[in-house]
Amino acid sequence: MAYLGCHLSASKGDLAMVRTALELGADTFAFFTRNPRGSKAKDVDPADSAAAMALMEENGFGPLVAHGAYTMNLCTADPEARAFAASVLLDDLRRMEARPGQYYNFHPGSHVGQGVEAGIDYIAQALKQALVPGYPVTVLLETMAGKGSEIGGRFEELKLILDAVGSDRVGVCMDTCHVYDAGYDIVADLDGVLAEFDRVIGLDRLKALHLNDSKNPFASHKDRHECIGQGSLGVETFRKILAHPALKDKPMILETPNELPGYQAEIALLRSLG
Ligand code: FE
Ligand code: FE
Ligand code: ZN
Repeated sequence: MAYLGCHLSASKGDLAMVRTALELGADTFAFFTRNPRGSKAKDVDPADSAAAMALMEENGFGPLVAHGAYTMNLCTADPEARAFAASVLLDDLRRMEARPGQYYNFHPGSHVGQGVEAGIDYIAQALKQALVPGYPVTVLLETMAGKGSEIGGRFEELKLILDAVGSDRVGVCMDTCHVYDAGYDIVADLDGVLAEFDRVIGLDRLKALHLNDSKNPFASHKDRHECIGQGSLGVETFRKILAHPALKDKPMILETPNELPGYQAEIALLRSLG
């Protein structure tokens, strides 16, 4: 069985998030490393993080999947803004060191007209600078819907970034809403999409999933999340995902439009499918 969880508020620290996760029936979770709209980051309290990791271990949690800010665009056109984004990544990854063995996921970025190749280059450069040898966290590139000039809507783009970085500390987080919106038909042919992922990237690089239904039809390139079973993916798709041998033992994070009670209900629903 996969590990299931949702996004939680980081405002009260890591241990508080693990306790909330336990109340919700979760055995993984996600949180934003900083205010998703701004750049303000909460200081890490190493004792709090250590206590949280111990409580996760005690309760058989899978890795947590921290999420970088949406505003962090490593391949934006303005050199100063790009340097700032790279410094945000560095700072995020430094603070993740208090959470060894966990995952840090982020959106690769939007090349805003510079072209996919230039964008991929900037992202890879920033990652190479940030990933010092022995770095204790695995960094995940999120599969994107391919909205506007977003990079990561195609598996090939993610593969180019992974190859350019050349570190086994980098993997992929597959967002179910995003891949479907991007034109990978996980509703009709989940096996085929995973085979394609394996051919292009390698399934050993797939470390985590975001479980979201989609408000939009196949290949819409839109990226609007819907609650599980209420969108174009439908509950049967999630049943297949939870049963798929290639996806077992992965942390799967809900990013559906919910408050905590809604997340609790969705986690219970997913457990009943698996
Ligand atoms: Fe995301
Ligand atoms: Fe996502
Ligand atoms: Zn999304």
